[in-house]
Amino acid sequence: PLRAGLRPAPQPPYQPLQVLGVPGEVNLDYAASAPCARAAADAVAELLPWYASVHRGAGALSRRCTLAYERARQTVGDFFSARPEDHVIFTRNTTDALNLLAHVLPAGTKVVTFAAEHHANLLPWPAGALRLPVPDSPHAAVRGLAAALRELRRGSDPGAPILVAVTGASNVTGECWPVAELAQVAHRYGARVALDAAQLAPHVPVDLAALDVDYLAASGHKLYAPFGAGVLVGRADWLDAAPPYLLGGGATRHVGPATHDVRWTTGPGRHEAGTPNLLGAVALAAVCAALTAADRAALHRREQELLTRLRTGIAALPHLVELRTFGPAADRVGIVSFVVAGRDSAEVAATLAAEHRIGLRDGLFCAHPLARRLLAEAAARGGHRDLPPTALRASLGLGSTDDDVDRLLAALAALG
Ligand code: PMP
Repeated sequence: PLRAGLRPAPQPPYQPLQVLGVPGEVNLDYAASAPCARAAADAVAELLPWYASVHRGAGALSRRCTLAYERARQTVGDFFSARPEDHVIFTRNTTDALNLLAHVLPAGTKVVTFAAEHHANLLPWPAGALRLPVPDSPHAAVRGLAAALRELRRGSDPGAPILVAVTGASNVTGECWPVAELAQVAHRYGARVALDAAQLAPHVPVDLAALDVDYLAASGHKLYAPFGAGVLVGRADWLDAAPPYLLGGGATRHVGPATHDVRWTTGPGRHEAGTPNLLGAVALAAVCAALTAADRAALHRREQELLTRLRTGIAALPHLVELRTFGPAADRVGIVSFVVAGRDSAEVAATLAAEHRIGLRDGLFCAHPLARRLLAEAAARGGHRDLPPTALRASLGLGSTDDDVDRLLAALAALG
Protein backbone atom coordinates (compact mmCIF):
# COMPACT_ATOMS: atom_id res chain seq x y z
CA PRO A 1 0.00 0.00 0.00
CA LEU A 2 1.19 3.50 -0.83
CA ARG A 3 1.80 5.95 1.96
CA ALA A 4 -0.28 9.07 1.71
CA GLY A 5 1.26 11.60 -0.68
CA LEU A 6 3.55 9.10 -2.42
CA ARG A 7 3.03 8.34 -6.05
CA PRO A 8 4.27 5.19 -7.71
CA ALA A 9 7.45 5.71 -9.74
CA PRO A 10 6.60 6.24 -13.39
CA GLN A 11 6.92 2.98 -15.32
CA PRO A 12 8.60 3.12 -18.71
CA PRO A 13 6.02 2.57 -21.46
CA TYR A 14 5.62 -1.05 -22.42
CA GLN A 15 7.66 -1.76 -25.53
CA PRO A 16 6.42 -4.95 -27.15
CA LEU A 17 9.10 -4.82 -29.84
CA GLN A 18 11.99 -4.50 -27.43
CA VAL A 19 14.13 -7.60 -27.90
CA LEU A 20 15.68 -9.76 -25.20
CA GLY A 21 19.42 -10.13 -25.18
CA VAL A 22 22.49 -10.67 -23.05
CA PRO A 23 24.41 -7.54 -22.02
CA GLY A 24 27.82 -7.36 -23.66
CA GLU A 25 27.02 -9.88 -26.39
CA VAL A 26 26.72 -8.32 -29.84
CA ASN A 27 24.18 -10.28 -31.84
CA LEU A 28 24.57 -9.70 -35.56
CA ASP A 29 22.96 -12.95 -36.62
CA TYR A 30 19.32 -12.00 -36.92
CA ALA A 31 18.96 -13.61 -40.33
CA ALA A 32 19.62 -17.04 -38.81
CA SER A 33 17.31 -16.54 -35.81
CA ALA A 34 16.23 -13.15 -34.50
CA PRO A 35 16.16 -12.50 -30.76
CA CYS A 36 12.89 -12.81 -28.88
CA ALA A 37 10.58 -9.80 -28.76
CA ARG A 38 8.95 -8.96 -25.44
CA ALA A 39 5.57 -9.37 -27.10
CA ALA A 40 6.39 -13.02 -27.84
CA ALA A 41 7.91 -13.72 -24.43
CA ASP A 42 5.00 -12.10 -22.60
CA ALA A 43 2.32 -13.80 -24.67
CA VAL A 44 3.91 -17.17 -23.92
CA ALA A 45 4.32 -16.39 -20.21
CA GLU A 46 0.69 -15.32 -19.95
CA LEU A 47 -0.60 -18.46 -21.62
CA LEU A 48 1.66 -20.98 -19.89
CA PRO A 49 -0.49 -21.46 -16.76
CA TRP A 50 -3.41 -22.18 -19.06
CA TYR A 51 -1.45 -24.54 -21.23
CA ALA A 52 -3.62 -27.48 -22.23
CA SER A 53 -4.63 -29.31 -25.40
CA VAL A 54 -5.76 -27.50 -28.54
CA HIS A 55 -8.88 -28.76 -30.37
CA ARG A 56 -9.10 -31.79 -28.12
CA GLY A 57 -10.37 -30.96 -24.66
CA ALA A 58 -13.67 -29.70 -23.21
CA GLY A 59 -12.21 -28.10 -20.08
CA ALA A 60 -11.82 -24.36 -19.59
CA LEU A 61 -8.06 -24.49 -20.09
CA SER A 62 -8.35 -26.43 -23.28
CA ARG A 63 -11.06 -24.17 -24.63
CA ARG A 64 -8.96 -21.11 -23.90
CA CYS A 65 -5.98 -22.68 -25.67
CA THR A 66 -8.09 -23.59 -28.70
CA LEU A 67 -9.37 -20.04 -28.85
CA ALA A 68 -5.83 -18.63 -28.51
CA TYR A 69 -4.60 -20.89 -31.30
CA GLU A 70 -7.40 -19.93 -33.70
CA ARG A 71 -7.03 -16.25 -32.82
CA ALA A 72 -3.34 -16.56 -33.57
CA ARG A 73 -4.23 -17.98 -36.98
CA GLN A 74 -6.48 -15.00 -37.65
CA THR A 75 -3.85 -12.48 -36.51
CA VAL A 76 -1.08 -14.05 -38.59
CA GLY A 77 -3.38 -14.20 -41.62
CA ASP A 78 -4.30 -10.53 -41.15
CA PHE A 79 -0.63 -9.60 -40.76
CA PHE A 80 0.04 -10.99 -44.23
CA SER A 81 -3.29 -9.71 -45.63
CA ALA A 82 -4.57 -13.19 -46.36
CA ARG A 83 -7.62 -13.24 -48.63
CA PRO A 84 -10.88 -15.06 -47.89
CA GLU A 85 -9.86 -17.83 -50.29
CA ASP A 86 -6.60 -18.48 -48.44
CA HIS A 87 -5.76 -20.93 -45.69
CA VAL A 88 -3.35 -20.06 -42.89
CA ILE A 89 -1.54 -23.23 -41.89
CA PHE A 90 0.87 -23.36 -39.00
CA THR A 91 4.06 -25.25 -39.75
CA ARG A 92 7.39 -25.72 -38.03
CA ASN A 93 9.18 -23.08 -40.12
CA THR A 94 9.65 -21.86 -43.71
CA THR A 95 11.30 -25.11 -44.76
CA ASP A 96 8.30 -27.05 -43.51
CA ALA A 97 5.89 -24.62 -45.19
CA LEU A 98 7.58 -24.95 -48.58
CA ASN A 99 7.76 -28.76 -48.24
CA LEU A 100 4.04 -28.73 -47.49
CA LEU A 101 3.40 -26.67 -50.60
CA ALA A 102 5.54 -29.06 -52.67
CA HIS A 103 3.42 -31.91 -51.28
CA VAL A 104 0.11 -30.39 -52.44
CA LEU A 105 1.11 -29.49 -56.01
CA PRO A 106 -1.32 -30.97 -58.54
CA ALA A 107 0.16 -33.80 -60.62
CA GLY A 108 2.34 -32.52 -63.45
CA THR A 109 2.98 -29.08 -61.92
CA LYS A 110 6.11 -27.47 -63.29
CA VAL A 111 8.07 -25.47 -60.74
CA VAL A 112 10.31 -22.56 -61.66
CA THR A 113 12.85 -21.07 -59.24
CA PHE A 114 16.07 -19.09 -59.46
CA ALA A 115 19.50 -20.47 -58.53
CA ALA A 116 19.69 -17.60 -56.00
CA GLU A 117 17.27 -19.31 -53.61
CA HIS A 118 17.85 -20.70 -50.14
CA HIS A 119 17.98 -24.50 -50.13
CA ALA A 120 14.50 -24.49 -48.53
CA ASN A 121 13.21 -23.07 -51.80
CA LEU A 122 15.39 -25.22 -54.08
CA LEU A 123 15.26 -28.73 -52.70
CA PRO A 124 11.57 -29.51 -51.91
CA TRP A 125 10.41 -29.19 -55.51
CA PRO A 126 9.76 -32.18 -57.75
CA ALA A 127 12.52 -33.47 -60.02
CA GLY A 128 12.64 -31.47 -63.22
CA ALA A 129 11.99 -28.12 -61.55
CA LEU A 130 13.49 -25.37 -63.66
CA ARG A 131 16.25 -23.40 -61.95
CA LEU A 132 16.79 -20.08 -63.71
CA PRO A 133 20.25 -18.51 -63.56
CA VAL A 134 21.01 -15.82 -60.99
CA PRO A 135 20.03 -12.52 -62.65
CA ASP A 136 22.25 -9.46 -62.33
CA SER A 137 19.38 -7.01 -61.74
CA PRO A 138 15.75 -7.12 -60.59
CA HIS A 139 14.76 -6.23 -64.14
CA ALA A 140 16.76 -9.17 -65.51
CA ALA A 141 14.92 -11.45 -63.08
CA VAL A 142 11.56 -10.38 -64.49
CA ARG A 143 12.78 -10.74 -68.07
CA GLY A 144 14.30 -14.15 -67.33
CA LEU A 145 11.09 -15.39 -65.80
CA ALA A 146 8.97 -14.14 -68.69
CA ALA A 147 11.21 -15.90 -71.21
CA ALA A 148 11.14 -19.17 -69.23
CA LEU A 149 7.36 -19.13 -68.86
CA ARG A 150 6.88 -18.35 -72.55
CA GLU A 151 8.99 -21.43 -73.37
CA LEU A 152 7.07 -23.61 -70.92
CA ARG A 153 3.72 -22.56 -72.36
CA ARG A 154 5.00 -23.45 -75.84
CA GLY A 155 6.40 -26.80 -74.67
CA SER A 156 5.05 -30.34 -74.68
CA ASP A 157 2.46 -29.74 -71.94
CA PRO A 158 1.34 -26.12 -72.41
CA GLY A 159 -1.63 -26.41 -70.03
CA ALA A 160 0.30 -27.81 -67.04
CA PRO A 161 0.01 -25.96 -63.73
CA ILE A 162 3.11 -23.87 -63.05
CA LEU A 163 4.40 -22.63 -59.71
CA VAL A 164 7.04 -19.89 -59.58
CA ALA A 165 8.82 -19.98 -56.21
CA VAL A 166 10.89 -16.91 -55.34
CA THR A 167 12.41 -15.24 -52.34
CA GLY A 168 11.35 -11.81 -51.11
CA ALA A 169 14.79 -10.91 -49.75
CA SER A 170 17.97 -12.92 -50.12
CA ASN A 171 19.40 -14.44 -46.97
CA VAL A 172 22.87 -13.99 -48.48
CA THR A 173 22.82 -10.42 -49.80
CA GLY A 174 19.71 -8.94 -48.16
CA GLU A 175 18.68 -7.74 -51.61
CA CYS A 176 14.94 -7.49 -52.27
CA TRP A 177 13.49 -9.25 -55.26
CA PRO A 178 10.85 -7.63 -57.49
CA VAL A 179 8.06 -9.81 -56.14
CA ALA A 180 5.05 -7.87 -57.46
CA GLU A 181 6.56 -7.69 -60.96
CA LEU A 182 7.45 -11.39 -60.93
CA ALA A 183 3.90 -12.21 -59.80
CA GLN A 184 2.46 -10.10 -62.58
CA VAL A 185 4.51 -11.93 -65.18
CA ALA A 186 3.68 -15.32 -63.65
CA HIS A 187 -0.03 -14.62 -63.70
CA ARG A 188 0.15 -13.42 -67.30
CA TYR A 189 1.26 -16.97 -68.13
CA GLY A 190 -1.30 -18.59 -65.85
CA ALA A 191 1.31 -19.59 -63.25
CA ARG A 192 1.00 -19.31 -59.47
CA VAL A 193 3.60 -17.69 -57.25
CA ALA A 194 5.01 -18.79 -53.90
CA LEU A 195 6.93 -16.21 -51.90
CA ASP A 196 9.65 -17.28 -49.51
CA ALA A 197 9.18 -14.42 -47.06
CA ALA A 198 11.56 -15.79 -44.39
CA GLN A 199 13.89 -12.80 -44.70
CA LEU A 200 11.49 -10.19 -46.02
CA ALA A 201 8.74 -10.41 -43.41
CA PRO A 202 10.93 -9.44 -40.42
CA HIS A 203 11.93 -6.21 -42.14
CA VAL A 204 9.06 -4.80 -44.20
CA PRO A 205 5.28 -5.29 -44.32
CA VAL A 206 4.39 -8.15 -46.66
CA ASP A 207 0.92 -7.86 -48.13
CA LEU A 208 -0.04 -11.02 -49.97
CA ALA A 209 -3.01 -9.39 -51.65
CA ALA A 210 -1.13 -6.25 -52.77
CA LEU A 211 1.81 -8.27 -54.09
CA ASP A 212 -0.71 -10.64 -55.65
CA VAL A 213 1.24 -13.75 -54.73
CA ASP A 214 -0.59 -17.03 -54.23
CA TYR A 215 1.41 -18.53 -51.34
CA LEU A 216 3.68 -17.20 -48.66
CA ALA A 217 6.02 -19.03 -46.29
CA ALA A 218 7.65 -17.52 -43.19
CA SER A 219 9.35 -18.52 -39.93
CA GLY A 220 8.49 -17.28 -36.45
CA HIS A 221 12.06 -17.57 -35.20
CA LYS A 222 13.21 -15.00 -37.76
CA LEU A 223 10.27 -12.78 -36.76
CA TYR A 224 11.28 -12.38 -33.11
CA ALA A 225 9.07 -15.31 -32.01
CA PRO A 226 11.48 -18.13 -31.24
CA PHE A 227 8.99 -20.79 -30.25
CA GLY A 228 9.13 -22.97 -33.31
CA ALA A 229 6.18 -22.01 -35.45
CA GLY A 230 6.15 -21.07 -39.11
CA VAL A 231 3.34 -20.49 -41.51
CA LEU A 232 2.10 -21.24 -44.99
CA VAL A 233 -0.58 -18.84 -46.20
CA GLY A 234 -2.24 -19.26 -49.55
CA ARG A 235 -4.88 -20.51 -51.94
CA ALA A 236 -7.13 -23.10 -50.37
CA ASP A 237 -7.96 -25.10 -53.51
CA TRP A 238 -4.71 -27.06 -53.96
CA LEU A 239 -4.41 -27.43 -50.20
CA ASP A 240 -7.89 -28.91 -49.81
CA ALA A 241 -7.56 -31.18 -52.85
CA ALA A 242 -4.24 -32.81 -51.92
CA PRO A 243 -3.72 -35.66 -49.46
CA PRO A 244 -2.80 -34.40 -45.97
CA TYR A 245 0.85 -33.49 -45.41
CA LEU A 246 0.82 -35.28 -42.06
CA LEU A 247 -1.45 -38.26 -41.42
CA GLY A 248 -3.05 -38.61 -38.00
CA GLY A 249 -5.45 -37.18 -35.48
CA GLY A 250 -6.94 -33.80 -36.28
CA ALA A 251 -6.70 -34.25 -40.06
CA THR A 252 -9.65 -36.65 -40.26
CA ARG A 253 -13.40 -36.35 -40.45
CA HIS A 254 -14.10 -40.08 -40.24
CA VAL A 255 -12.00 -43.23 -39.78
CA GLY A 256 -13.73 -46.57 -40.25
CA PRO A 257 -12.63 -50.10 -39.50
CA ALA A 258 -11.17 -50.76 -42.97
CA THR A 259 -7.77 -49.22 -43.79
CA HIS A 260 -9.13 -47.42 -46.85
CA ASP A 261 -12.12 -46.04 -44.94
CA VAL A 262 -10.80 -42.55 -44.12
CA ARG A 263 -12.29 -39.19 -44.90
CA TRP A 264 -9.99 -36.22 -44.43
CA THR A 265 -11.09 -32.83 -43.26
CA THR A 266 -10.58 -29.69 -45.33
CA GLY A 267 -9.23 -26.39 -44.07
CA PRO A 268 -5.97 -25.82 -42.22
CA GLY A 269 -6.50 -28.88 -39.98
CA ARG A 270 -6.07 -31.16 -43.01
CA HIS A 271 -2.32 -30.46 -42.95
CA GLU A 272 -1.83 -29.92 -39.22
CA ALA A 273 -2.33 -33.45 -37.85
CA GLY A 274 -1.09 -34.04 -34.33
CA THR A 275 -1.13 -31.66 -31.38
CA PRO A 276 -0.12 -28.24 -32.68
CA ASN A 277 2.57 -25.90 -31.41
CA LEU A 278 0.29 -23.56 -29.49
CA LEU A 279 3.04 -21.44 -27.91
CA GLY A 280 4.79 -20.99 -31.24
CA ALA A 281 1.59 -19.83 -32.91
CA VAL A 282 0.70 -17.48 -30.07
CA ALA A 283 4.21 -16.01 -29.94
CA LEU A 284 4.23 -15.42 -33.69
CA ALA A 285 0.80 -13.78 -33.56
CA ALA A 286 1.89 -11.53 -30.68
CA VAL A 287 4.79 -10.21 -32.74
CA CYS A 288 2.58 -9.81 -35.81
CA ALA A 289 0.14 -7.75 -33.75
CA ALA A 290 2.94 -5.64 -32.26
CA LEU A 291 4.46 -4.98 -35.67
CA THR A 292 1.06 -4.06 -37.09
CA ALA A 293 0.63 -1.49 -34.33
CA ALA A 294 4.16 -0.09 -34.76
CA ASP A 295 5.40 2.65 -37.05
CA ARG A 296 7.02 0.31 -39.52
CA ALA A 297 8.23 3.11 -41.76
CA ALA A 298 10.23 4.47 -38.82
CA LEU A 299 11.59 1.00 -37.97
CA HIS A 300 12.61 0.57 -41.60
CA ARG A 301 14.34 3.97 -41.70
CA ARG A 302 16.30 3.11 -38.57
CA GLU A 303 17.34 -0.25 -39.97
CA GLN A 304 18.43 1.38 -43.23
CA GLU A 305 20.60 3.85 -41.29
CA LEU A 306 22.32 0.96 -39.53
CA LEU A 307 22.69 -0.94 -42.78
CA THR A 308 24.25 2.06 -44.50
CA ARG A 309 26.64 2.49 -41.57
CA LEU A 310 27.63 -1.15 -41.86
CA ARG A 311 28.00 -1.21 -45.64
CA THR A 312 29.89 2.08 -45.73
CA GLY A 313 32.23 0.78 -43.06
CA ILE A 314 32.81 -2.47 -44.95
CA ALA A 315 33.44 -0.58 -48.21
CA ALA A 316 36.05 1.57 -46.43
CA LEU A 317 38.09 -1.46 -45.37
CA PRO A 318 40.27 -2.46 -48.34
CA HIS A 319 40.70 -6.08 -47.19
CA LEU A 320 36.88 -6.66 -47.16
CA VAL A 321 34.72 -7.47 -50.18
CA GLU A 322 30.92 -7.45 -50.02
CA LEU A 323 28.85 -10.07 -51.86
CA ARG A 324 25.96 -8.86 -53.95
CA THR A 325 23.88 -9.92 -56.91
CA PHE A 326 22.27 -6.70 -58.05
CA GLY A 327 23.71 -3.20 -58.50
CA PRO A 328 24.59 -1.08 -55.47
CA ALA A 329 21.25 0.77 -55.56
CA ALA A 330 19.01 -2.29 -55.04
CA ASP A 331 16.58 -2.25 -52.10
CA ARG A 332 17.92 -4.32 -49.22
CA VAL A 333 17.06 -5.53 -45.77
CA GLY A 334 19.57 -5.58 -42.91
CA ILE A 335 21.81 -8.38 -44.16
CA VAL A 336 25.36 -8.09 -45.53
CA SER A 337 27.67 -10.89 -46.58
CA PHE A 338 31.36 -10.29 -47.13
CA VAL A 339 34.78 -11.87 -47.08
CA VAL A 340 38.08 -10.85 -45.57
CA ALA A 341 40.83 -11.25 -48.16
CA GLY A 342 43.45 -13.76 -47.09
CA ARG A 343 41.49 -14.92 -44.03
CA ASP A 344 39.47 -18.05 -43.47
CA SER A 345 35.87 -17.03 -42.73
CA ALA A 346 35.31 -19.64 -40.02
CA GLU A 347 38.46 -18.50 -38.27
CA VAL A 348 37.39 -14.84 -38.50
CA ALA A 349 33.95 -15.68 -37.09
CA ALA A 350 35.53 -17.63 -34.23
CA THR A 351 37.88 -14.73 -33.45
CA LEU A 352 35.00 -12.23 -33.47
CA ALA A 353 33.13 -14.44 -31.00
CA ALA A 354 36.04 -15.25 -28.72
CA GLU A 355 37.82 -11.90 -28.62
CA HIS A 356 35.04 -9.40 -29.29
CA ARG A 357 31.84 -11.16 -28.17
CA ILE A 358 30.35 -10.59 -31.60
CA GLY A 359 28.08 -13.32 -33.00
CA LEU A 360 27.62 -13.63 -36.74
CA ARG A 361 27.48 -16.45 -39.24
CA ASP A 362 30.07 -17.91 -41.59
CA GLY A 363 29.66 -20.45 -44.36
CA LEU A 364 27.56 -20.64 -47.51
CA PHE A 365 24.27 -19.84 -45.73
CA CYS A 366 22.20 -22.78 -47.03
CA ALA A 367 22.33 -21.14 -50.45
CA HIS A 368 25.35 -22.92 -51.91
CA PRO A 369 24.76 -22.21 -55.61
CA LEU A 370 24.33 -18.47 -54.97
CA ALA A 371 27.05 -18.06 -52.36
CA ARG A 372 29.66 -19.91 -54.47
CA ARG A 373 28.83 -17.83 -57.49
CA LEU A 374 28.98 -14.55 -55.59
CA LEU A 375 32.30 -15.51 -54.03
CA ALA A 376 33.73 -16.12 -57.50
CA GLU A 377 32.35 -12.81 -58.73
CA ALA A 378 33.65 -10.95 -55.68
CA ALA A 379 37.13 -12.28 -56.40
CA ALA A 380 36.91 -11.00 -59.97
CA ARG A 381 35.34 -7.65 -59.04
CA GLY A 382 37.58 -6.87 -56.08
CA GLY A 383 40.73 -7.91 -57.94
CA HIS A 384 41.65 -10.16 -54.99
CA ARG A 385 43.31 -13.52 -55.60
CA ASP A 386 43.18 -14.70 -52.04
CA LEU A 387 39.47 -14.75 -51.18
CA PRO A 388 38.34 -17.66 -48.99
CA PRO A 389 35.81 -20.25 -50.21
CA THR A 390 33.15 -19.32 -47.64
CA ALA A 391 31.80 -15.97 -46.42
CA LEU A 392 30.72 -14.04 -43.33
CA ARG A 393 27.27 -12.61 -42.81
CA ALA A 394 26.19 -9.80 -40.50
CA SER A 395 22.47 -9.26 -40.08
CA LEU A 396 20.48 -6.88 -37.92
CA GLY A 397 17.01 -5.74 -36.98
CA LEU A 398 15.00 -4.55 -33.99
CA GLY A 399 17.28 -3.65 -31.11
CA SER A 400 20.44 -3.37 -33.21
CA THR A 401 22.53 -0.31 -32.40
CA ASP A 402 25.22 1.91 -33.90
CA ASP A 403 27.52 0.47 -31.26
CA ASP A 404 26.89 -3.10 -32.48
CA VAL A 405 27.91 -2.04 -35.99
CA ASP A 406 30.90 0.00 -34.84
CA ARG A 407 32.23 -2.83 -32.70
CA LEU A 408 32.08 -5.19 -35.67
CA LEU A 409 33.77 -2.67 -37.96
CA ALA A 410 36.52 -1.98 -35.42
CA ALA A 411 37.14 -5.71 -34.96
CA LEU A 412 37.26 -6.23 -38.75
CA ALA A 413 39.58 -3.25 -39.18
CA ALA A 414 41.96 -4.84 -36.70
CA LEU A 415 42.23 -7.91 -38.96
CA GLY A 416 43.72 -5.86 -41.82
N1 PMP B 1 14.35 -19.09 -46.86
C1 PMP B 1 15.21 -18.13 -46.54
C2 PMP B 1 15.39 -16.97 -47.46
C3 PMP B 1 15.93 -18.23 -45.35
O1 PMP B 1 16.80 -17.29 -45.02
C4 PMP B 1 15.71 -19.34 -44.50
C5 PMP B 1 16.48 -19.49 -43.19
N2 PMP B 1 17.84 -19.22 -43.27
C6 PMP B 1 14.80 -20.29 -44.89
C7 PMP B 1 14.12 -20.13 -46.06
C8 PMP B 1 14.51 -21.47 -44.04
O2 PMP B 1 13.97 -21.06 -42.84
P1 PMP B 1 13.80 -22.11 -41.64
O3 PMP B 1 15.19 -22.57 -41.30
O4 PMP B 1 13.18 -21.32 -40.56
O5 PMP B 1 12.96 -23.19 -42.16
